[in-house]
Amino acid sequence: MSQALSQQDNLFLSVSEVQERIINDIKAIDGTERVDLRHALGRILATDVTATINTPPCDNSAMDGYAFNSNDINDQDTLTLKVTGQSFAGHPFTGEIASGEAIRIMTGAQVPVGVDTVVMQEHTETADENTVKITTIPKPFANVRKAGDDLITGQTFLARGKKLSPTDLAFLATQGIAEITVKRRLRVAFFSTGDELRSIGETLSEGEIYDSNRYSIYGLLKNMDIDIVDMGVIRDDRQAIEEAFKTASSVADAVITSGGVSVGEADFVKETLGKLGQINFWKIAMKPGKPLAFGTLGKSLFFGLPGNPVSVIATFYQFVQPALKRMKGQDTVLPLVIKVKTTELLKKRPGRTDFQRGILEQSDTGELTVKNAGIQASHVLTAMSRANCFIVIPAESGSIEAGEMVDVQPFEGLIG
Ligand code: AMP
Ligand code: MG
Repeated sequence: MSQALSQQDNLFLSVSEVQERIINDIKAIDGTERVDLRHALGRILATDVTATINTPPCDNSAMDGYAFNSNDINDQDTLTLKVTGQSFAGHPFTGEIASGEAIRIMTGAQVPVGVDTVVMQEHTETADENTVKITTIPKPFANVRKAGDDLITGQTFLARGKKLSPTDLAFLATQGIAEITVKRRLRVAFFSTGDELRSIGETLSEGEIYDSNRYSIYGLLKNMDIDIVDMGVIRDDRQAIEEAFKTASSVADAVITSGGVSVGEADFVKETLGKLGQINFWKIAMKPGKPLAFGTLGKSLFFGLPGNPVSVIATFYQFVQPALKRMKGQDTVLPLVIKVKTTELLKKRPGRTDFQRGILEQSDTGELTVKNAGIQASHVLTAMSRANCFIVIPAESGSIEAGEMVDVQPFEGLIG
């Protein structure tokens, strides 16, 4: 390797270095809004939420059966009690219960004062409606769900930064909470650059291709519940680019472009960015990917992604998605990584971190394995489309033999 090349190599940053540089600098947006419970699904909680009532609010039965006092349990195999009342869900028993007495009780019905144990009806016999014979004696306090088992008044049960799941909506509903404060939605503007690009609906001339990156970026942002501003294709023209950057940064929290950041690209993209904002141009030791521009453009964050379609998706997952999650105020931001066995040889040369397109599968015995999704080239969407994960192979690693363990990042939505 020539001296010049090896010096250039030293300028390469690792994936994790770039992730740290990007994520550490980003603050969550301040804006919040009140939304009703249903509209809170998938939104990011802006405040901690504290219980104002116990859940369950009262001791209640986990079974249909009979409630009685555990003091009545003696050393006999069976126990016969007098049935003096009933407690149904929503219709509690209000009388007194003496020793030797039981009440009929249903699941979810309040367990009244004076009793502490429920026997399921399958463990009883009833000769008449006033008498119950317990044939299998339960342990004292069995089948009673205590008040506050789930939440106790004053307890913080959801933390700021949580992305609200269907379960969380139910959790909030148990507290009677109708409205909640969430972070406002992020707004992201994006456009593609390149004189070779045509938007779908237009006719391709010689040497032109359809702009596909705007569609992957659209989908990736939509999956993150982000408001989008699609600004189309901007020609490689100084004035058009400058205007696009200005408009984008004035309407959005973040601006994403694809193409035009690699070495040899028309310099005015860099020149314009230099004029309008504070942008770093990085070379990252990753494949696909490599060039990435990141910084601020007015009040917006700016991400200049590479042009190749697979590189766009790979760099979005590694850098843009974590950054936008952080901006949204979300608590976890980096992609989940799991270790699984590869069933195939994964070819690689040492030097850069590979994000190979993989297919994560489950064998008959439940073991997770991964295999190659197809041709690994940054302009080939076929393997990317088939893939459900990235296989992450460390920079220094060479090829991985079949049967070895590898790191895998399942795509968002595949797990969780
Ligand atoms: P660039 O980074 O501008 O040099 O682009 C690298 C490669 O990605 C070139 O082959 C471009 O034609 C291609 N490319 C750039 N932008 C897009 C886009 N929006 N859609 C599809 N391909 C693109
Ligand atoms: Mg270009």
